[in-house]
Amino acid sequence: MAKYIIGVDLGGTKILSAIVTKNGNIVKKVQVPTQASRGRARVVKNIVRSIRTLLMDARVPLSDIEAIGVGAPGPVLFKEGVVLNPPNLPGWKRVPLKKILAREFRKKVVLDNDANAAALGEGAFGFAKGLKNFIFITVSTGIGGGLVIDGKLLRGAWGGAGEVGHMIIEPSGPRCGCGRRGCLEAMASGSAIARLAKAKLKTNKRSLMLKLAGGDISKVNAKTVEDAARSGDSLAKKIINRAARYLGMGLANLINILAPDAIGLGGGVMKMGQMFLGPAEKAARELSLSPAAKLVKIVRAKLGEDAGVIGAAALCMENK
Ligand SMILES: [Zn+2]
Repeated sequence: MAKYIIGVDLGGTKILSAIVTKNGNIVKKVQVPTQASRGRARVVKNIVRSIRTLLMDARVPLSDIEAIGVGAPGPVLFKEGVVLNPPNLPGWKRVPLKKILAREFRKKVVLDNDANAAALGEGAFGFAKGLKNFIFITVSTGIGGGLVIDGKLLRGAWGGAGEVGHMIIEPSGPRCGCGRRGCLEAMASGSAIARLAKAKLKTNKRSLMLKLAGGDISKVNAKTVEDAARSGDSLAKKIINRAARYLGMGLANLINILAPDAIGLGGGVMKMGQMFLGPAEKAARELSLSPAAKLVKIVRAKLGEDAGVIGAAALCMENK
């Protein structure tokens, strides 16, 4: 009987592939560059190559692999296994990635968007183990989410449910990557933090952020803001607080609608830890209705950098 599952985390800059046991342990992991700017055919080739390299490095024969799970940037058509048109994969338009990989490796392939995959991974092996109602949200360059309701991942009519990053929380806010204004992603993501810092620095030349960026405003990113805040810079602290409160506002909306057991927050921005989680949690509890506001657990997600590959593997173990 096949022992392992391969999980592939397809990102805009790197492709992570891992051999994963059915208990969610990683046996071997490889990383290759996506080379997204070189177009679709090259990226597909890189995915295939990364899986072959993985099997070779781990000395695992293909016959030991039960299935291949892929977490891809959304939006995707879940059933069809088609990647539609992710902004960070230029030239991609309705790519039948599931079919391509199934033909290449002659294995069952399951494909979903990366946040849904990570939510399933967290449900099987992470912060939400044993929970039937939970939300996973990743806060990094963008904001994505996966919603598990009554033990099932919510996919909606065609597979695109769970886009928590595009709930509008500030109608007159800045333009989001999706074209609308004031989405959660435009207010609370890593890029939102960097954008606000850059705007504020034009009139606040004394902030430590500018010094940390070598005097070059264009070099300021979310990490610069974090580092400056840790050193006590008041403007940086304010910017982080504001973004975290907007995240909390988004969480409050979700808590009111779904009454989850828990919300787990992952992604690069959450590496700030309590500095970001604290004000986000406070706002979430203040702005949501009781008793949900009191009952919900708000925690950092558990799988960290491995959420993508473990989640992709978990796609193949999902009870549908
Ligand atoms: Zn948006």
